[in-house]
Amino acid sequence: MLSVEEASTAILQHAEIRAATRRGIVEACGRVLAEDITSDVDSPPHDKAMVDGYALIAADLGGEGTQLRVLEEVTAGNVPTQTVFPGTAVRIMTGAPIPRGANAVVMVEQTRSTTASGQETVTVDATSLAVGANILPRATSLQKDDTVLTSGHLLRPMEIGLLAEVGRAEVEVVPAPRVAVLATGDELVPASKSPDNGQIRNSNGPLLQALVTRAGGIPRDLGIARDQPDALRDKISLGLSDDILLLSGGVSAGVLDLVPAALAAAGVEQVFHKVQLKPGKPLWFGCLFEKHQPRLVFGLPGNPVSSLVCFELFVRPAIARMSGHPANQPHHRSGVLTRGHRQTGNRPTYFPSILSEEDSRLTVSPIDWRGSADQRSLVTANGLALFPAGDQDYRVGDSVLTIPL
Ligand code: AMP
Ligand code: MG
Repeated sequence: MLSVEEASTAILQHAEIRAATRRGIVEACGRVLAEDITSDVDSPPHDKAMVDGYALIAADLGGEGTQLRVLEEVTAGNVPTQTVFPGTAVRIMTGAPIPRGANAVVMVEQTRSTTASGQETVTVDATSLAVGANILPRATSLQKDDTVLTSGHLLRPMEIGLLAEVGRAEVEVVPAPRVAVLATGDELVPASKSPDNGQIRNSNGPLLQALVTRAGGIPRDLGIARDQPDALRDKISLGLSDDILLLSGGVSAGVLDLVPAALAAAGVEQVFHKVQLKPGKPLWFGCLFEKHQPRLVFGLPGNPVSSLVCFELFVRPAIARMSGHPANQPHHRSGVLTRGHRQTGNRPTYFPSILSEEDSRLTVSPIDWRGSADQRSLVTANGLALFPAGDQDYRVGDSVLTIPL
């Protein structure tokens, strides 16, 4: 049986970055850039006023109450027509180009304006201004032809604003992987139905779709397949058109655990079955190699918490790798137990726990949890604590590794 690390390596070896595609920049947010971006403009494109006020010659300010004749008004989006010369100023708004001759801008709050016979005069209360005051020189933040972003960069809202500034309405990005989700089991009914005797509702379908969305993939719901080879085959062949197919249930050792055989019949090659892990031991992983990119197929265990643990450990990093993110193993962070815990058995256990930051250290409190079907208690947890294989009593103050949920 593979260890968690061996299973991760085997999965990531098959998770190839998706081919780049062109997207509008708003839609591209959250994606990884697949080209270098150069600017087609200087920014700012001209020396510009950083405040509303008056553009003037700094040397004109000789003491209190300097009076200057106002030549014109320039607002953002317009260009000055006048040249400032000694004794004059131009009323200017934030963002407008600085007129020729001026070398500083005084804030309107430091001035008083009077108008007589249609001629505006400004009285400047500031006694001096540095040359360049309140002026942002042309190309301060970037120059035309500068490379502003390189391939591989994650596009956040800040990058989207920059892309717009440099004239890119569309960019090449790595698209989000499409992930089909199929629940299997004769006992399952959808959340909208009341279960009859022997039935339960399909939790994994909605749970896995939500996990896919949170991991940056695009989920597609394939509903429920009954534990029959024909039903499984039909739904599996639908799911194999997506980048990843997630099945839940049917991968253990029961008489109706038909998923591995159904996947093999559909041409999916098994890479491994079973991992030394609790919960999550029955995990099945394989690939369909017949299309240009391998399709990844995960047979996740039926119990919801087992499915969740396998998703976080194995599916999320595969989605990240296919999305062009540097392959992310879940970040294991060390924390200190605030509650004792008894670990038994020969499999490492990822145990639902409450993680919290206290005095710049992470504390870990394993929850009261009744096993891998117990979703009700799971909602109190915000992380998993890793207890290595082997029987051991952990005490308050012991260190354990954790991953967030
Ligand atoms: P299986 O691996 O198919 O034997 O399923 C293991 C356990 O998980 C059984 O108790 C199933 O009823 C349960 N289970 C399977 N699929 C789901 C699902 N989609 N939602 C909730 N529980 C499930
Ligand atoms: Mg089943």
